[in-house]
Amino acid sequence: MSENQIPYKIYLTEDEIPRSWYNIRADMKTDHRPILHPGTLQPMTAEELAPVFCDELVKQELNDKDRFIEIPEAIRDFYKMYRPSPLVRAYCLEEALKTPAKLYYKYEGGNTSGSHKLNSAIAQAYYAKEQGLKGITTETGAGQWGTALSMACGYFGLDLKVFMVKVSAEQKPYRKAVMETFGAKVTPSPSDTTNIGRKMLEADPNSGGSLGTAISEAVEVAVTTEGYKYTLGSVLNQVLLHQSIIGQEAKKAFEKIDDYPDLVIGCAGGGSNLGGLMSSFMADKLAGKKAPYFIAVEPASCPSMTRGKFAYDFCDTGMVTPLAKMYTLGATFIPSSNHAGGLRYHGMAPILSQLYHDGFIDEARAVGQTDVFKAATMFARHEGTLPAPESAHAIKAAIDEAIKCKETGEAKTILFGLSGTGYFDLGAYMNYNEGTMTDQIPTDEELERGFAAIPPVEG
Ligand SMILES: *Cc1c(COP(=O)(O)O)cnc(C)c1O
Repeated sequence: MSENQIPYKIYLTEDEIPRSWYNIRADMKTDHRPILHPGTLQPMTAEELAPVFCDELVKQELNDKDRFIEIPEAIRDFYKMYRPSPLVRAYCLEEALKTPAKLYYKYEGGNTSGSHKLNSAIAQAYYAKEQGLKGITTETGAGQWGTALSMACGYFGLDLKVFMVKVSAEQKPYRKAVMETFGAKVTPSPSDTTNIGRKMLEADPNSGGSLGTAISEAVEVAVTTEGYKYTLGSVLNQVLLHQSIIGQEAKKAFEKIDDYPDLVIGCAGGGSNLGGLMSSFMADKLAGKKAPYFIAVEPASCPSMTRGKFAYDFCDTGMVTPLAKMYTLGATFIPSSNHAGGLRYHGMAPILSQLYHDGFIDEARAVGQTDVFKAATMFARHEGTLPAPESAHAIKAAIDEAIKCKETGEAKTILFGLSGTGYFDLGAYMNYNEGTMTDQIPTDEELERGFAAIPPVEG
């Protein structure tokens, strides 16, 4: 690695933090199908979305025209506290793999919340504050989104009610402590504080909860409480929009070293970190300028892109949210508990789903949990950063691609998203280290049960 002038870390200056978010919908060849009202099955209008989301975020959600949307100064100022995030050349991992490939990762775990989710949390909290709201509600699965939003709400002085999937709340008491430190109120879901929660508890008093149920509870509280709106940390167009700063920064960093990725790899739960990382590179692909190969990596235990259906489906278990056209396992699908909590969602962002359907995202790949932790451990030992289990899905695929390069002798440039830190997932690492980790892969019959709940909506 000595002859290389490319540094380990390629930093941008504060001034190079993007001034606008990039709205990929303005460039997509086929826009994704509109989200539909769950009652009328007609496209949701701004008026119908207004009780749920802040006005400005509704505009962003429905905006398919403006390529760039200016980042308000107050948000950019907050970004300056933890951005630009570094692009890191994984020299030590390359050496260990003896690969001719050049491996780079964009590290989003360097803030207290520990992941990329803060990029959208601060934007959503800002618009709530601007609108004069008292507070917001949300759900959190593994806890990353709740933590990020707690930081954002703490910063702007907004109340925050978090419905946290019960199994996660029990497994991760420290997450709860961080959220409470930033001022959030955390309720394990299902709870007896909402109609949908009570209904779920009636059906199964011992329910460990799911992201879909927590969403239903958070939406219910938002639409029935004066001065509150709901926020979501992934899947939505607005979230992918905010996350576009990751890809914009990455592209700028590659310009500094006069390189460009042949491969862009990200883990995909709801699609926001991959959507963000790929943004500027996908823009080049859509414009016919470059053709990087994109890989979305998901857990074999929750394989929405590799084994799901491309269909209109509800975004939550309670079936109160709009329907989105996406790759889905069915809103009633509850994946076996695995350690990549942030990747356990039944659907996939409509933008990502459409790009995959149209072939612009070249490949979706499902990987098993123990292989993922093997890759995570290798990465930690050679690169000195403990990755989030979610991010380790991308690491696994990147390592596999680097090994392929060794076999073919190709010196490909590989970019992958290191979406977060693993500090809050030590239970998972303990499990892996003790050898008690298992790989849970749903059978076709189990998937069929989820598919059966997908509503028969054409389009
Ligand atoms: C939430 C989360 C994910 C998955 O969500 P996406 O919307 O697909 O990005 C991935 N990595 C980390 C660290 C997360 O916290």
